[in-house]
Parts: sequence; C-alpha cells; structure tokens
Amino acid sequence: MASIFTHAFVAVAAGRVYAAGETPARFWLLSAACAVAPDADVAAFAFGIPYGSTFGHRGFTHSIAFALLLGAAVAALFFRGAEFKTKGSLVAYFSGVTASHGALDALTDGGLGVAFFSPFSGERYFFPFRPVVVSPIGVASFFSEWGVAVIKSELVWVCGPAALAAIAVLLFRQRAARRDEKA
Ligand SMILES: [Zn+2]
Repeated sequence: MASIFTHAFVAVAAGRVYAAGETPARFWLLSAACAVAPDADVAAFAFGIPYGSTFGHRGFTHSIAFALLLGAAVAALFFRGAEFKTKGSLVAYFSGVTASHGALDALTDGGLGVAFFSPFSGERYFFPFRPVVVSPIGVASFFSEWGVAVIKSELVWVCGPAALAAIAVLLFRQRAARRDEKA
C-alpha cells in the first residue's frame, strides 16, 4: 500500500477536477472511501489467506474489475438520477478513483505487485518506475523512521504532482471560461 492518507489525497484532487461548483458532502466521503477501500484486503492476513492468492493483499480488490463494480455500486446506491452528475459519469469517476489505488500501489518499491486483471489472471504487476517507498502494514509500524520515509516519498512523487495537476487543470478551465465570456 501507499499510505491511506495519500490514496485519499489523490481522490480529493481528482474530485476537485471532476466536480466543479457545488458538491454534496457524501461525494467527498465516498471519493476518499473508494480510494482507500481496496486495502480492506489486509484483513486477509488475519484470516490466514496468503498474500499471493486472489483474495490476498493487492489481489482482487486492487483489480480493474473490482474498481468497475465498486464504482457502479456507489453511483447506484448513493446518487439519484442526474441531480448532480449523470449516472454514467459517476460510475466512471468512482471506478477511476478506486482504480487509482492499484495504480499507486504499482509505483511502490515493496511487497507483491498488483493483480490488475484479477479474477481473470492472478499475475501481479508493478510499473517499471517505482519511486514510492512502500507503506508498512499496520498503524504502529507507520510511526517510525520507515513511516517518515514513506511520507517524504509520497509527498514528492504523489501528493505534489497530484496537487499541481489539479491546479493546472482548474487554472486552464478558469482561463478558458474567461475567454468564452469575452468572445
Ligand atoms: Zn493497496
């Protein structure tokens, strides 16, 4: 895992770009929840499910299929009609936010890779470039030198770029809107 704070941060940056203007509070809660949800699979360790199995850590819950299912479920259960955004757009957004979790994990330098194509293939993947220090599993070990190294690398490689990308998109949009007003 990358740390849950960083997964949630990326979700909020994505949400800010996706939903300009008024947004219901549950939109933000669900964005953060979707980005963190895949790591519920650390419970597998407690049940003796091996890391490398389909339902082990970074297995099915980190896959693209799971992201689509969760995105569809969140859009169906928590949003009505087009009160806020269309259903299709909400499914795409929440699936994307959930999938961002596996993508971030594939940038980390430790653990097993991510089973992007589970349940169809159990193969585990990393991206070729892995600058993010892997986060320890469990809260106690997070408050350590290891935790500090994790936070540093996530700020530089994930939170910083995510914030800059979101700001760039928002500024670009603002300018485009102003140009349209003048035209
Ligand atoms: Zn994870």
